[in-house]
This record gives sequence, structure tokens and C-alpha cells, in this order.
Amino acid sequence: MPNNRFADIILPLAVRGRFTYRIPDNILDLIRPGVRVKVQFGGKGLYSGIVCNLHNNSPAVKNVKTIIDLEDAIPAINDLQLKLWLWISEYYLCSEGEVMKAAMPSEMSLVNYKPRFETLIDLARKFTDNELNIILDNLKKAPRQQEVLSAFIRLTGYTEGIEIKPVSKSWLLKEAESSANIIDTLAAKGILRSVSSEVTRLSNSDSYKEPVKKLSEAQAAAYESVTRQFKEKDIVLLHGVTSSGKTEIYIHLIEEQLKIGKQVLYMLPEIALTTQIILRLKKHFGAVTGVYHSRFSDPEKVEIWRKVADTDPMSGYRLILGVRSSLFLPFSNLGLIIIDEEHDGSYKQHDPAPRYHARDSAIMLAALHKAKTILGSASPSVESYNNAVNGKYGFAELKERFGLIKLPTIVIANTREAYRKKLMVSHFTPELLQAIDEALGKDEQVILFQNRRGFSPYIECSECGWIPVCIQCAVNLTYHKGISKLVCHYCGYTTDMPSKCGSCHSTGMVTRGFGTEKIEDEIKIVFPSASVARMDQDTTRNKNSFNKIIRAFEERRIDILIGTQMISKGLDFENLTVVGVLNADNLLNYPDFRAHERSFQLMEQVSGRAGRRQKQGKVVIQTSDPTNKIIRMVLRHDYASMFRMQAEERMTFNYPPFCRMVKISIKHKERSLLNYYSDILGRDLKEIFGKRVLGPESPVISQVQLWYIKTILIKIEREKPPVKAKQLIIDAIERLQEEKGASSLRIAIDVDPY
Ligand code: ADP
Ligand code: ZN
Ligand code: ZN
Repeated sequence: MPNNRFADIILPLAVRGRFTYRIPDNILDLIRPGVRVKVQFGGKGLYSGIVCNLHNNSPAVKNVKTIIDLEDAIPAINDLQLKLWLWISEYYLCSEGEVMKAAMPSEMSLVNYKPRFETLIDLARKFTDNELNIILDNLKKAPRQQEVLSAFIRLTGYTEGIEIKPVSKSWLLKEAESSANIIDTLAAKGILRSVSSEVTRLSNSDSYKEPVKKLSEAQAAAYESVTRQFKEKDIVLLHGVTSSGKTEIYIHLIEEQLKIGKQVLYMLPEIALTTQIILRLKKHFGAVTGVYHSRFSDPEKVEIWRKVADTDPMSGYRLILGVRSSLFLPFSNLGLIIIDEEHDGSYKQHDPAPRYHARDSAIMLAALHKAKTILGSASPSVESYNNAVNGKYGFAELKERFGLIKLPTIVIANTREAYRKKLMVSHFTPELLQAIDEALGKDEQVILFQNRRGFSPYIECSECGWIPVCIQCAVNLTYHKGISKLVCHYCGYTTDMPSKCGSCHSTGMVTRGFGTEKIEDEIKIVFPSASVARMDQDTTRNKNSFNKIIRAFEERRIDILIGTQMISKGLDFENLTVVGVLNADNLLNYPDFRAHERSFQLMEQVSGRAGRRQKQGKVVIQTSDPTNKIIRMVLRHDYASMFRMQAEERMTFNYPPFCRMVKISIKHKERSLLNYYSDILGRDLKEIFGKRVLGPESPVISQVQLWYIKTILIKIEREKPPVKAKQLIIDAIERLQEEKGASSLRIAIDVDPY
């Protein structure tokens, strides 16, 4: 007699639903929700799935398959994680399997874990400051050794006044991007030495921890306000101008939570930001602090999982700093989630599914743990601010910068005027050049922001206007001078720079517009003695490249840093006084209902990098439209007006936060069939939702990788629970999928697609 026990299992597939398998006798006593099991699915072979629940309900189908093997002795996924997965799959209309794929490191080889012994590196003996300086100086001729030694000093936190303690050798090699033989050389010279230690002992070591900073009066008031509101509300929005000390407030909140044995998740929108914040956190909280993001290798991710799951307060992680995917770590006891730069668009995953918003999902995660959430920003999203205005969230404010330094002065530089008067030097207005010149004269640093990477966004035939486009996408190819290629930023297609026009064969191909690479080239010509660097997707492909550039800028080895939005957020540089926004127009003219909100936030953020310490900074914004309303608001750092204007507009035209949106993208390789099928779906949806359906229409990029694209946007009323509307949408899509030939469509649903 076979037993009558079954398990519902999540498989890493895009198919909705859980799959029921029979439990074999030999694992009956061992199987539990959250463990992984090996099963067969379809004809396609073996999968590792997660057990969700066990029951006696024999499924209606015949030939229920039996679980092949049990893979974990203890659950890999806890109950709260499973609940979060389910919520994400229901809210964002994807399968739990898709959430699973995003959530777990792909090689969760938990079983093979053995405690590791690790080599630590220490100074060969105690040196005085002076001796260390001399040693560093003497290493000038051996830059790789110098890099290792300065990385060592950095990692120990010595520069921040912490006594030198041994650091992990692998950590040091990673930080310095160096090799072991360099360390050997330094050891042979009597500068460094190796010592051995068990890793867990390392985390136990009571390394010196700096007490948290004393809050200023304004900060203390905001902190009190947040903790008071947490008694009644689960979520508080902290609106604090740039450099007001939001991070210091978080640090105080973290300390409270760690004291009572709770875990804290600290979320940031961008990997580049973790570099600086992690040092600030480790200084106070030491080895219980961990980082998590997609740049880690799979084994490293597994290691971090283990440390988050480890509930021993001495060896486990209590505080995690991470980007959106850190949401999925196996927390068991969260007390607080911090979402810094909560307005940031990078919190939303657009492709592939799960198309989740990490801020909104984190709020759900906090609710599952009965934890509190603090959202922080200098320019909150319209929806969060609206939630604060209507009392759903608590609200606290910091209106001044720490140390009462004034917010930077903003200079609007009119590019149209400057071109007309022939005052432009390549892409720089006289105002910007003067500001850079002054800063460099005082040995201060400069950041230049341009929202496009590459040399120029397109090239053009000067005779006939022909523009090379991608062979797979409806996109102009971007010219990258460094590699001398044309590149598609949507699919990665690359081709050589053509010597002749593809249409009239003239040789007069010219570059148009400008990206970061071009700005870098040109600024080097204008300021030949300045040291210039660039931070964008192209210069940060290596795992440690963020680190290197940020350190170099901190240590003033770079005078002018050019970058895309990755330099605009959250970074804290002491000596940076001038920020230039090279082209505000292409931010403002983006065809999206959020373009104005986003441009305000971006300009406010990037301005916020200037003049954060001793003195007021200066920001030069170049635009051809100085009277633009948003630019005027940035000029006055006037968030409140921006919010009012946006809220009014969205109320009038029914956009979020006053409705919910669901976007459906439909793709087909043949344009006419795409039109045919998308019209069917559009008509069907209009019968249900009437005028609240927009489209089908061609998006700005109407073809990617040979797939033509149409989108349909559905606005759902805010007041009603969205579950029913979402089900109607799913039903309509399923009806479309039953049409003849519809299996060659690709359909994606994006809930809150902004
Ligand atoms: P925000 O997160 O609002 O941008 P930060 O927390 O980064 O601001 O603070 C800006 C700078 O001022 C940081 O270098 C920080 O160390 C310093 N700072 C802020 N508050 C204090 C404080 N209470 N005591 C000492 N330094 C502070
Ligand atoms: Zn392409
Ligand atoms: Zn031509």
C-alpha cells in the first residue's frame, strides 16, 4: 500500500501554480516545508523544487509522480520567505517559480559546508604613523605593492582612527585586485605578515567599535519623531535634504534594533553606494554587518545566505546592506527595514519576471516580520509623499544640512544662448568652465553628470542624414570611441564604425550628441593638467571597479569624475564642491508621466553631492530651456512645489498614485501578426475596462532583438481591491493564448510599471 501523503512544490519555472508530488516512504519523516527536493517535471528532466506544504489530498490527475530525493536536512527557505514569494507572485502576476529563480543563488549547495580556516594579514610589527608614511612613500616605485599596503590600511579602518587589526587575506586581495605574491614580497620586506585564524573566530573578535555619532539637535528631534511615530505606524517617511544626516539617523535606529536582538535590512538602490556605507556601518557594528548584491559569485552568495540564516548572534549577520535582491535573504527576525533613496527607479525590476518593486515588496516583508520600515529620501517619490500627506505613513523632516552648511547654489547655464553667442567650448558653457576652473584652482574636486554612456548616441551621414541602426532593434547605434565600435544599448550588438555612408556612400560620417566618453575626451583637452576619470557601465564591469574609482576620488587621485546616474546618488565626498549637469534637456523630455518627477529627483540628488563638508557647493545645470518649471524648482530646492504640481497633474489625468497601472507587452517576430493579436487583446480588455485601457501602441523602442513590441496599459481604480481586476486581465490573456497561432507570441505583465 503506498502512503497517502503529498507535497505541493514550487519549481523554478514560469508556469503558474504549485505542483503536487507523492512523498515516498523513506523520506516521510524528514520532509518539511522549505526543504528542497529533486523531482521530474514534463519530459524535461530533473528539477530542484521547494516544498511548500504537505497534505493527504490525492490530486485529480492520474499518475502522480513521486519525489525522487530529498536534498536538505534542514529547510533552505523559511516560512516567511515562502509567504513573501507567494505575495510577490500574486501581486506582480508571475509564478512563484520565477520568484524562486530571482531569490535563490543558483547553486545553493548548503550541504557541502565546512568551517573554513582563513589566512589573515597583519603588519609585521607595530609602526608609527610616520614610519608608515615613509614606507608608503618608498613604495611609489612599486605601485602594486603600494596599492596592497594602502588597501590593507583602508580595510583596517586605520584612517578613521581605528587601531590596526589583522584583515582577511582574500578580502585584501579582492580590495586591492592584487595577487598573493605581492603580499609575499611585502612580507619579505618586513612590512606585512600572515597569521592563521578560524573564520568564525574572526567574526567573534571583539574588534574595536566606534560609538555612534552624537546627533545634532535637528537630527535628535527627527530621530525622536521617527521612534515616537513607530509606536503607532509601521512606516515612516524621512524627508531630509541631502547631507542632513539621514544615514546617521539610520545608524541610531540600527543600534536600537541590534541591542534588542533583531535583524536589520538596509536597502540601497545601487551597488556603487554600498562601498561607502558599508565602511560607515562596519565602523560601528563590526562583523555582524554583511553586504549582498548581484556582483557576488554564487559560492559567496551561499555563504552570505548561511550567515543571515545563522541565528547565533556571535557568528551570524545581524545587519545586511544590500540592493533589491537582498529582500530574499533568509531573515528570521527582522526588526527594521531601511529603504534609502526610496524614490529611486532602480528599486523596480523590469525584466525578467518577477517584475517587482523592492521598496513595496520590502514593506510587505517588514509586515510579515512585524517589523518597522523607514523610507528615506531628499526627494521622495510622489506616491510615498502622498502616503505621508494622507497619514498612511508617518513623516519626519530634516530641513538643514549637518553643520548648517548651506545647500549648494544652483546656476542655470543657457546652452542655446551660449551657442548663439559662440561662447560654448565643445559641450561646456562659460559658467561651467569657470566653476570647474575655480574648483581646480583651490584643489577641490568636480563631478560632471551626463545621462548617456558611450561617445555619441548616434552617428549620421552629413550628406544625406543616414543613421546606422541596430540590425535587431529599432534603436540608433551608439558610438564607443575607446573600442572604436558602434554598440546597441538594448541588445549588445556591436559592429565596426563604417567608413562610408550606408546609403549614399559619402565618407562624411559625423558623430552627433554626446555621452560620458566624449565628455571625458573633451574635458581632458580643456583641462590638460587635471586628472580625469569616468564611472559608467563601461568602466565598472569588473566586480571591484566601483570601489577603485570611489576610493581614488576619496583619496583625491581624481580631480574630475564624469559619470551617469550611478554617480548621482548617495555618495559622500569631502572635497567635492562643483557638480555640472551637462544636459538637463534629455532628462526633461523623456516621454513618461514620471519624467518631471524623475528629473527633479535626479538633479536634486546629483546637486546633493556638492559641498557636503566645510563649505557651500556650486551646481551648474546646462539647459536650452532655462524657464522650464522643473528647473526653476530645482533652482530653489523646492520639493513641495514639485510635489503639488505633480500630484495635481496626476489627479487630473488619472495617473498613479491615484490609480494603479498594469502594463502588458506583447511581442511577435512579425509585425502584422503582432498587430493582429494585440488588437484582439486590446478589444477584449476594452470590453471589460472601457476607457481605462490605453493602446495597443508602439513603445518608443518598438523592436528589440528582432521582436516587435506593442504595449497595452490598463488603469485600475485605486479604491477597489486589485485582485479581481488582475484576475480579469489574466483571463483575457489566457483567452488570447487560446487563439490559433498565439503560441508564437511573448506576453509580459508588469504591475506598477514605473
Ligand atoms: P545624508 O544621508 O542625509 O545624505 P549623511 O548621514 O551622509 O547625510 O551626513 C552627511 C555628512 O555629515 C557625513 O559625512 C556624516 O558623517 C556627517 N554627519 C552627519 N551627522 C553627523 C553627526 N551628528 N555628527 C558628526 N558627523 C555627522
Ligand atoms: Zn539591438
Ligand atoms: Zn549618406
